[in-house]
Amino acid sequence: MKLPIYLDNAATTPLSREVLEVMMPYMTESFGNPSSTYSVGRTTRLAVETARKTVAKHLSVKPSSVFFTSGGTESNNMAILSAIRDMGCTGIITSPIEHHAVLHTVQYYSRQHDILLDMVSLTKDGCIDYNDLEQKLMRQKNLGKKSLVSLMYANNEIGSLLDLPIVERLCRQYDAVFHSDCVQSVGHYPVDLSTSYVHYISASGHKFHGPKGVGILYVSPSAKAGPLIHGGSQERNMRAGTENVYGIVGFAAALDIAMRSYEEDSRYIGGLKAYMRELLEKRLPGVRFNGPIQGLYTVLSVCFPKGAASESLLLYLDQTGICVSGGSACSSGNGGGSHVIEALGDRMGCTTVRFSFSKFNTKEEIEHTVDVLHSALCP
Ligand code: PLP
Repeated sequence: MKLPIYLDNAATTPLSREVLEVMMPYMTESFGNPSSTYSVGRTTRLAVETARKTVAKHLSVKPSSVFFTSGGTESNNMAILSAIRDMGCTGIITSPIEHHAVLHTVQYYSRQHDILLDMVSLTKDGCIDYNDLEQKLMRQKNLGKKSLVSLMYANNEIGSLLDLPIVERLCRQYDAVFHSDCVQSVGHYPVDLSTSYVHYISASGHKFHGPKGVGILYVSPSAKAGPLIHGGSQERNMRAGTENVYGIVGFAAALDIAMRSYEEDSRYIGGLKAYMRELLEKRLPGVRFNGPIQGLYTVLSVCFPKGAASESLLLYLDQTGICVSGGSACSSGNGGGSHVIEALGDRMGCTTVRFSFSKFNTKEEIEHTVDVLHSALCP
């Protein structure tokens, strides 16, 4: 067995060799600044614009709707700022299980701009309560607010998925602006935005075997957006700074590969998740799972019964060469645990471990991990 066993693919994925090969020329001989007008610059300009076309094709949108950024965090910040500053949103509705790149940003702007911030309720398994979303939209409208709804498509900790048609229908009905953090779904599912109501989506390259430090913000033709970072006129004045050419080229290549092999990869990865769930249920009595059964196929969030040696379990896994993420409810409120697990309620005292898979994992790795868990928890 090759160690370490990497089961933390929702945190980041290894760069694929194929993607690296596409990126390499732009780290070496094709080094020109895309803003330069001579041929060395024109080569990299062409590479950036070709990458934009590839990404746009995979989202079924126009290339002019795609802006390259430094990743999911920046794209989320840019979407939220644009909704407030350029679309006139004065109310925000989001959920307590969003990534901090959304939660901390909406908290910041709601303090700065006197914006009404509402948190939508969740169902028991961590999905959005759509009746409550409608109530919140109605309340904000009655108060004369223009709402921004910011809800992620796939949750990075528990894998719950958003029902897009319902959210789109509600946002349309209440004339709300809709942003979706799609960092865990772009590159993992086909995305067709051609008839979508969504105004902004965010994505990040390192979640699907692309490079770190590059992402996109999609801005629909009906939305307005402006820069978060000021300076030069790159990205049609939307994102100043010399383009991360090899990152951008790598993002497009990784997305292309991911979509080419989507059917096969998603079936394989979903199979690994189901296998691990089955083995855990068989061998570790009392385990529970966070999030819905039919969730994101890359993520399995496991709640080991009260009494399982909490942090020491993660340490033990690390020492035996298994990389996973922890997450326990944050009882102190000082940020020491997972806000997502805390939002689910009734998980206090249980040890949560998130296992997340990629096409590079194997059944043998899953079996070994379950053996290690068994020896730690059922000595
Ligand atoms: N949103 C979600 C759902 C994520 O999982 C992450 C990364 O962990 C981010 C946003 C932040 O993306 P990035 O690391 O590209 O800034």
